[in-house]
Amino acid sequence: MRLTVVGCCGSGPGPESPASCYLLEHDGFQLVVDLGNGAFGALQRTIDPAAVDAVFLSHLHADHCLDVAPFVVWHRYSGRSPGKLVPLYAPVGAERRLAVAYDIDGDGLTDVFDFVPVGAGAFELGPFQVELARTAHPIETYAARFTAGGRSLVYTGDTGPCERVVELARGADVLLAEAAHPDGDPDQPPGLHLTGRQAGEHAAAAGVGRLLLTHIPAWVDRIGQLAAASEAFAETELVSPGQVFDL
Ligand SMILES: [Zn+2]
Ligand SMILES: [Zn+2]
Repeated sequence: MRLTVVGCCGSGPGPESPASCYLLEHDGFQLVVDLGNGAFGALQRTIDPAAVDAVFLSHLHADHCLDVAPFVVWHRYSGRSPGKLVPLYAPVGAERRLAVAYDIDGDGLTDVFDFVPVGAGAFELGPFQVELARTAHPIETYAARFTAGGRSLVYTGDTGPCERVVELARGADVLLAEAAHPDGDPDQPPGLHLTGRQAGEHAAAAGVGRLLLTHIPAWVDRIGQLAAASEAFAETELVSPGQVFDL
């Protein structure tokens, strides 16, 4: 399984990175995981949009889904779309949410996507075994465990501290975890995001192989997040756009 970091800036795009977007590949299957602001441009550095086999959206906050709009434009007008519907796995309501994001008076996006509503539980997606768990976040949001070729990667999506995420990540090779909140700031709302330390604690509690820190907003100190997470879990690193991890 190969993970490519397309965008990893938390809560919106930053000067160094688009918002959340990852490419997961196995056996030639190319799965786009989240498609946040600015990600569609960077995605084209890695793959031809015509080759995207499926899209999975963890939730429908803007920083995880808004570049569905340019994805649709490309498929409608580039003349290079293969003309197949792209399966789009997302929480219930994605079809309406994304259609309005594209155009308030639009006719929907079903000429480009085959919408597949998801919920907590397991299913197959191409070569991946996928298991989803509801996270601690204000809207319906799923952490996802992707397993293929005997390896497993768990992506937290957006979440506050959450025992379900720890259970989902139990024994995974890699935990790709958000760490959006700085430690030691009492003004951060609960049930929204993890601090660096909490991301490390989740990795330690789940007994994962390594922790990749992501979704750090442009206004938060990345090195501080890494230091805080590393205190709780040593095998921790920050991700950057363009980085490739072969699991
Ligand atoms: Zn987010
Ligand atoms: Zn969110």
